[in-house]
Amino acid sequence: MTVFEALNSQTLPLRLGGTAAILDRVGVDTSAWKIREVGDGNLNLVFIVDGTKGSVVVKQALPYVRLVGESWPLPLKRSYFEYQALVRQQERDPGMVPEILHFDREQAIIVMEFLTPHIILRKALIEGQQLPRIARDLGLFTARTLFRGSDLSMETRKRKEDLALFSDNVELCDITENLVFSDPYYEATLNRHTTPQLDGIVRELRADRDLKVEAQRLKHLFASNAETLLHGDLHTGSVMVTPEETRVIDPEFAFYGPMAFDVGMLLANFWMSYFSQAGHEKDGDRADMRDYLLDVVVGIWDTFRDEFSRLWHTERNGILYQRTLFEDRGDALGSTQALDEVLQSIWTDMLGFAGVEMHRRILGLAHNADFETIEDADLRARCEAKALKLGRHLAVNRRKIHSMAEINALAGRLE
Ligand code: ADP
Ligand code: MG
Ligand code: MG
Ligand code: MG
Repeated sequence: MTVFEALNSQTLPLRLGGTAAILDRVGVDTSAWKIREVGDGNLNLVFIVDGTKGSVVVKQALPYVRLVGESWPLPLKRSYFEYQALVRQQERDPGMVPEILHFDREQAIIVMEFLTPHIILRKALIEGQQLPRIARDLGLFTARTLFRGSDLSMETRKRKEDLALFSDNVELCDITENLVFSDPYYEATLNRHTTPQLDGIVRELRADRDLKVEAQRLKHLFASNAETLLHGDLHTGSVMVTPEETRVIDPEFAFYGPMAFDVGMLLANFWMSYFSQAGHEKDGDRADMRDYLLDVVVGIWDTFRDEFSRLWHTERNGILYQRTLFEDRGDALGSTQALDEVLQSIWTDMLGFAGVEMHRRILGLAHNADFETIEDADLRARCEAKALKLGRHLAVNRRKIHSMAEINALAGRLE
């Protein structure tokens, strides 16, 4: 048995310099390789390897949470789930994830295409960049991956095998279950928030019985509604962009869960970006950027809904809502009614997931650079408080909210 060993810039060429797929991309002269560790995430090592011919990214899991240290062990097998998820996402929405060049299960190493000149979407939004393609690309990505990984589309034996495979990613689910759905709502040890500015609203939220019940209902849904393969960590820090291209990275939290989860997480991060803009106005007013962000939210949802509907009508080959019962009997209307109901339930749950995501990024362990980079704590707290309020409204009133226009109008009033 080989022993796991973390890579470093000295050992990397020795350990990976014999792999043809890497030499092919980077160049055979390993003594010319230049290696930088660039990991900015919470969990893993990420190296960029530059050679005479080109570059690759080498991502390696560590047996613990990088953000916290060795006191919080986390299994290496998450790298295997990330690899498996990338393969499926590439099938389901080709070209939207980095190309995979090499995978080593024992060493928890994924070697992939170096995305350049792409930057992390969150960073672009903090800088005030308006990316023209993201709404459409991300709307399509969510619709295609979520629809095509479910019993609406897959052969059910394959889906059940996949469900079994990903069910072993239990430690990463456990992180989501605790950090997203529970910790924000009590004084959990690893929590932090902008203090003392937010102390009052934090106390209110933690005493809010309706909110606590709703958060647990959402956790219940997350833990038990295994309807499709989720990305599991789909925030703006897991998207890399240029004005011409959008790519999704980092699906190590992949798991079978409710469709609404990925969509809700993603949209929450745009609403948080919206409220954070007031903290980034040193070089000029961000009114246009705010309008843009609300348009992106509308664009993602509309694209998701349209693409999901298109797939419903053209690729509904799984065991659910079979054509035999509807179209084949001349009842196209029945199929459309079922589609409307499925979309309505994704909408309602998506709003709930968005609400709790906004809370945990401000009250929990893992915060967002959108807010964290606002140095003035009073200003930061004002931005964060607005997001907390919108989050509460979305989580608790989600069944009574009927349109994006309604939510964006409320966001505008809070702003
Ligand atoms: P973690 O799981 O630790 O969050 P990520 O997969 O998000 O790790 O990668 C961390 C960082 O490394 C990203 O924010 C990005 O800057 C960089 N990165 C990751 N994958 C690539 C890639 N394929 N091309 C370019 N940069 C990448
Ligand atoms: Mg990441
Ligand atoms: Mg594309
Ligand atoms: Mg990650």
